[in-house]
Amino acid sequence: MNQDIEYLLEEASEVGRVRTDCPTCGSNNTFSAMYLSTSMVVVYNCFDASCEVKGSKRVGLQKNNLHKGLFTNPQDCPMMVQEELSTSGFTDIVSNGKGLEYLKKVQCYDLYEQNHIDVRYDPRQDRVVFLVKDLQNDRIVNAVGRTLRPSGKPKWFKYAKTSADYKIGCGNIAVLVEDIPSACVVSKLQGIVGIALCGTILSELLLHYLTKNIYKKIWVCLDKDATLKSMNICDTLKHRVKDVGVLFPEVDLKNMNEEEIEKLVYKNEI
Ligand SMILES: [Zn+2]
Repeated sequence: MNQDIEYLLEEASEVGRVRTDCPTCGSNNTFSAMYLSTSMVVVYNCFDASCEVKGSKRVGLQKNNLHKGLFTNPQDCPMMVQEELSTSGFTDIVSNGKGLEYLKKVQCYDLYEQNHIDVRYDPRQDRVVFLVKDLQNDRIVNAVGRTLRPSGKPKWFKYAKTSADYKIGCGNIAVLVEDIPSACVVSKLQGIVGIALCGTILSELLLHYLTKNIYKKIWVCLDKDATLKSMNICDTLKHRVKDVGVLFPEVDLKNMNEEEIEKLVYKNEI
């Protein structure tokens, strides 16, 4: 490992967190390292998209952590640090008629009204923006915007380069879907947590989260044209979690009503 990185990791283990220029690619302020006292590791990565620097390093007991004991669970260690995202470029969506119209169309307006989802408007790109929190705490780590222009490209835009796994709802059954509105719609069912991949790729962070055995059942439910990808993700998860299966939706989840979704998810349960 690069000597400079080694040095920064040591610093992070002492002060908790380090943010500085990347010793490998030289980018300005893109290197981040964080000490996780519960697992006694320092995780680090570079936020520059073209830079491969990332990893974690186990560090010895720090003097001030001696009282916390020797036992740690390696499962607590995330693969990388996610950068906090600034939301200052977004405005309140309440003044944007088209944006609210879109939320109604994809059956998310009620969730927005009840404060279950944080949605903003991006005036610069004319997008409805869903704020994405860290899977395990309240830090906003990404935002995903849907264009309001009929032929706007890309249809979905990720504001941060890191993954945008989006989780909503309470329960012990997880349903993995492609986009955020679908996760919102499926989360309205009792006992179901909707998780959007914001694409069709299972991120390292999400894989790590799902292997913590929080859910008694995980369904993979990507859109109809991605059935093969659903099956691949199911295969990946199969080795790491107890109970995982694939659902084959006939139409987009966000166009289904509650009864149809209920049937899709629960017909396989009994
Ligand atoms: Zn770098």
